[in-house]
Amino acid sequence: MKYMCKTCKKKCKDIPEHMMKVHNFSKNIVDSQLKANPNCYKNAFEILEE
Ligand SMILES: [Zn+2]
Repeated sequence: MKYMCKTCKKKCKDIPEHMMKVHNFSKNIVDSQLKANPNCYKNAFEILEE
C-alpha cells in the first residue's frame, strides 16, 4: 500500500515514518497521536493503488 501526503504531495509507504522524516515530527508525538487515534493521519493522506 502506498500513500500520498496531501500536505507535501510526496508518496510514501509508511505514514509514521513520513511524518517523522519529512515533517520533523518527533517519534514520541507520532506514537502518542497514533495511540490516541490510530486513524489520525488518514485524512492527511490519500491511498494510492499499487
Ligand atoms: Zn508530507
